[in-house]
Amino acid sequence: MEDKIYPVAVIGGGAAGVMSVLRTVLNNDETLFFPGAPKNKKKSRALWVAKIENIPGFHDYKKGIVNPHKETISWIEASNFKDKLHHLKNRGVEEISKSDEGHFVLKDNKGESYRAQYVICCTGIMDVQPMISGSMDPIFPYANSQLVDYCLRCDGHHTKDKKTTVIGSGAGAAWVAIMLHERYAPPSMTVLTHGEQPQFDEETLFLMDEYNIKVKTGEITGVKGDAKEPRLEGFELENGEFCEAEFSFVSLGSIIYNELPKSLNVDIDKRGYIPTDKWGQTNIDGFFVAGDIRAGIKNQVYTAWDSAVDSADNINSKLRNARRPKPS
Ligand SMILES: Cc1cc2nc3c(=O)[nH]c(=O)nc-3n(C[C@H](O)[C@H](O)[C@H](O)COP(=O)(O)OP(=O)(O)OC[C@H]3O[C@@H](n4cnc5c(N)ncnc54)[C@H](O)[C@@H]3O)c2cc1C
Repeated sequence: MEDKIYPVAVIGGGAAGVMSVLRTVLNNDETLFFPGAPKNKKKSRALWVAKIENIPGFHDYKKGIVNPHKETISWIEASNFKDKLHHLKNRGVEEISKSDEGHFVLKDNKGESYRAQYVICCTGIMDVQPMISGSMDPIFPYANSQLVDYCLRCDGHHTKDKKTTVIGSGAGAAWVAIMLHERYAPPSMTVLTHGEQPQFDEETLFLMDEYNIKVKTGEITGVKGDAKEPRLEGFELENGEFCEAEFSFVSLGSIIYNELPKSLNVDIDKRGYIPTDKWGQTNIDGFFVAGDIRAGIKNQVYTAWDSAVDSADNINSKLRNARRPKPS
């Protein structure tokens, strides 16, 4: 392990991680950057997101998170601030602990250890996939071509003029269907509970009835269409039924990547997200979280940016305060 204690370490190279790095570096704070090992990247929303249409100026990027990130890191590495960035390419953090002296010790996937005074953890979340005949494979090509989507605020507008389904059996799935109907009035709307019993209350059932939102409880056995074209035709159900769909949402919940915070005894809410103060600091002094993993904020790129700036600026303020001359 190096003797050096870096002022800041950023874990994660998605929307929150890259904004954290940009801000800490522009604040002139030396930063260790762990963008994630290939296995971390593969499971991240950052890698998965294709076109982003709800952020001004982003419409031409083919990969709405990966492309601008590469540009940003390259820009830093060619800038006056290049010495402030320690970019540990393809490195993920496997273990984290807090020493008796109060700094964090981070061990990466190559077994190397580093020390940092402050940490911003931006490991993100992932959407739960429907298992179709025991596998996620049938849904992926359609998710990759953005005919199956997960985020109402990002991609709800794609349902305009399209026969739509929502896969899920909880109240969340029903409300996605209700909101999409109220906003875009697609020609048809069906909730596919995929073999589960629907968990809808009376108000929800009333609205679904009013809006002619159908519910089908049969398990999904196949997806029909051509993901390359791309075109979705619908879902085959176990009872031989076919449900037409030109676009589908999946609303099955999220997996929160909170293993590192958990190992530090960071407080976690009942859904797995991490509550913080207004700067993103957790109950563990010096340990901040930003982006989707932080409780109480929208799961969006621009909120990931904002939460990252909160944390980076608060850390800078603590570092400046510690260095500031004090009257004797
Ligand atoms: C299909 C889809 C479409 C979306 N479209 C939009 C959209 O149009 N507009 C919008 O604003 N938002 C959109 N979102 C939401 C957006 O992707 C997230 O809000 C955003 O990516 C959150 O940023 P984040 O940094 O918290 O997480 P991510 O961007 O997912 O980044 C997580 C990072 O953590 C890294 N990581 C994980 N574990 C470790 C570890 N142990 N060590 C080091 N690194 C680690 C990963 O490699 C990754 O780099 C969409 C989401 C999905 C699923």
